Amino acid sequence: MSPRPFIVAIDGPAGAGKSSVSKLLARRLGFALVDTGAIYRCVALMATREGIAFDDDVKLGELLGRVRIHFQVVGEENHVLLSGEDVSGEIRTPAISMGASQVSGRPVVRAGLLALQRRLALEAQAGAILEGRDIGTVVFPDADAKFFLAADPEVRARRRFEELFQKGVDSSLAAVLTDQTQRDTADSARTVAPLKAADDAVHVDSSSMPLSDVVRTLEQEIERRRAQRG
Ligand code: C5P
Repeated sequence: MSPRPFIVAIDGPAGAGKSSVSKLLARRLGFALVDTGAIYRCVALMATREGIAFDDDVKLGELLGRVRIHFQVVGEENHVLLSGEDVSGEIRTPAISMGASQVSGRPVVRAGLLALQRRLALEAQAGAILEGRDIGTVVFPDADAKFFLAADPEVRARRRFEELFQKGVDSSLAAVLTDQTQRDTADSARTVAPLKAADDAVHVDSSSMPLSDVVRTLEQEIERRRAQRG
């Protein structure tokens, strides 16, 4: 039997730089990338399209059985395919961000997506990077390397605003900061799988670190642990 792929958990609040760091790391290491936030976003998108309320556990539970997600790296981007449809842009709107935060607080949704997240990672060849909120605590408590990425709220909001601006999404810095605070509060306060660093996670504050330094810091730690694992 081939050994389990090397599992890297990267958790942290919105805008801490998880996506940019994970993308670069995955490319440098030749690892698969599982953006678990995108999975919750897809559930919110499906619910929106089907007119299902974000707190309707019965209908959400039924919907979960129909979630078919694949990730495809094209150039610099990690594309998200929902039943074959590229929804990468559509799942990043502020409305879907809030929807994802709401559906992710429903225990039925969290439980229903566990197997999918684990399968996407375990299908990988050499290793997988999973980014999210509860990877090191719930999805892979036995991950080979765990990181908790943080940054000041203003820095995070500015990054998200720039990202949305580049994608042509109309917003303001103040609106992004308000949404972010709301999501952070909801993600941290929920009773199931709240946003929380695992006890054995390596903490990295990226507020004043260039992206390349953050990537290098994580990569060195991953290489150290890979060498230990043999
Ligand atoms: O990471 P991203 O901002 O794309 O995640 C969208 C939302 O999905 C988050 O605000 C959070 O509520 C939820 N999420 C989660 N657990 C994860 C990943 C994301 O609850 N592992």
